[in-house]
Amino acid sequence: MNDRSGIAKIPKHVPMNQFEVADNCLQIAGQPLVDIAMQLGDTPFYAYDRTLMRTQVEHLRATLPAEIHLHYAMKANPMPEVVQYLAGITDGLDVASAGELEVALKAGASPANISFAGPGKSDTDLQAAVDSGVIINMESNGEMLRIAALAERNSVRPRVAIRVNPDFELKSAGMKMGSGAKPFGVDAECVPAMLESLKELPLEFMGFHIFSGSQNLREQAIIEAQTKTFELAFRLAQFAPSPVRWLNIGGGLGVPYFPGERRLDLAAIGANLFPLIETAREKLPEAEIVMELGRYLTAEAGIYVCEVVDRKVSRGEVFLITNGGLHHHLAASGNFGQVIRKNYPLCLGNRISADEMEMVNVVGPLCTPLDVLGNRVNLPRAGPGDLIVVFQSGAYGFTASPKDFLSHPHPSEVLL
Ligand SMILES: *Cc1c(COP(=O)(O)O)cnc(C)c1O
Repeated sequence: MNDRSGIAKIPKHVPMNQFEVADNCLQIAGQPLVDIAMQLGDTPFYAYDRTLMRTQVEHLRATLPAEIHLHYAMKANPMPEVVQYLAGITDGLDVASAGELEVALKAGASPANISFAGPGKSDTDLQAAVDSGVIINMESNGEMLRIAALAERNSVRPRVAIRVNPDFELKSAGMKMGSGAKPFGVDAECVPAMLESLKELPLEFMGFHIFSGSQNLREQAIIEAQTKTFELAFRLAQFAPSPVRWLNIGGGLGVPYFPGERRLDLAAIGANLFPLIETAREKLPEAEIVMELGRYLTAEAGIYVCEVVDRKVSRGEVFLITNGGLHHHLAASGNFGQVIRKNYPLCLGNRISADEMEMVNVVGPLCTPLDVLGNRVNLPRAGPGDLIVVFQSGAYGFTASPKDFLSHPHPSEVLL
């Protein structure tokens, strides 16, 4: 890895190691960060390294049973080029709106391999789903009746699955999306009755979608949830009007963001899935098994880059004020699902190491104290023109940010 001239070992104070460093500058897809900034002509920007996305897909393929089809949940990063790239190396896409569906179809994904989930699908969403022939994950009985009405009007037989709100929870998930009272899916105990009414409707039953949570970094919790997911699917299949042909077991694989977090050990998760797949082959012989992943495929491949505009000292603390912040990267500011604010991993991209390091606060240009990217981080001494890099930014970055807040320019995005 270090045989190219100038490529250095990543120094300890840089919190992430998936990108290389050469001549004291961060490299993305083999290009120096400063060159990328020059070519784009402006900061801030998001840059995504496709090779790192491919590495994640290959790691999953090498570790999980081959029967598992990998879907990309595109809400994590719907940039059309990213979706197109991932559509080409995964087995399908999961969309959550008519807008995402349009991007998915343009990316060349086959409707047979697209599923559409999300509570509160509008009639426009449902019409687009019916027209394109994707699998619709039904989130309620009412939604089922609306799809059936559309089907009758259009003389078609849409392919549907029931999204199940499981009767167990994914322990220690960053974001719980199953068990208890939830807006997502149909409570497991109500599914048999819904299957009974489905028999009478012009709908083609495909199977189940069981998603219990997101951003989990504990292998044991994921293993337990996946085991219970299969058990629940086997139980519910007994009430189905026809054999289960499709089972989406969710995802939930997390990525490390904060100090002390480490990457998941996929081997343990894979080892648990092999026997589960064996049982599924007996109990649900016609079922295609799908796992849907968002951030696991894109988060680590992306960085957000902004530029220092001003450096000031206030009562003994140094503030690096940048042209980017909360409006471009809500998650890194700590305002997207964090309870206690923690820093995303940061570095000074154009000068990785320096003799003089200092403790600084990295903030954005917005007139709100919430606009913080780094609270007391140790960086090489920096000033105007230097490039701040936020790692782990390839998922829920650009797409999940209030980009019009304060009417600053939007960041650009580039896939490298
Ligand atoms: C958001 C979402 C995902 C993706 O979650 P990640 O944490 O990005 O992997 C997958 N499935 C469903 C149903 C979702 O809502």
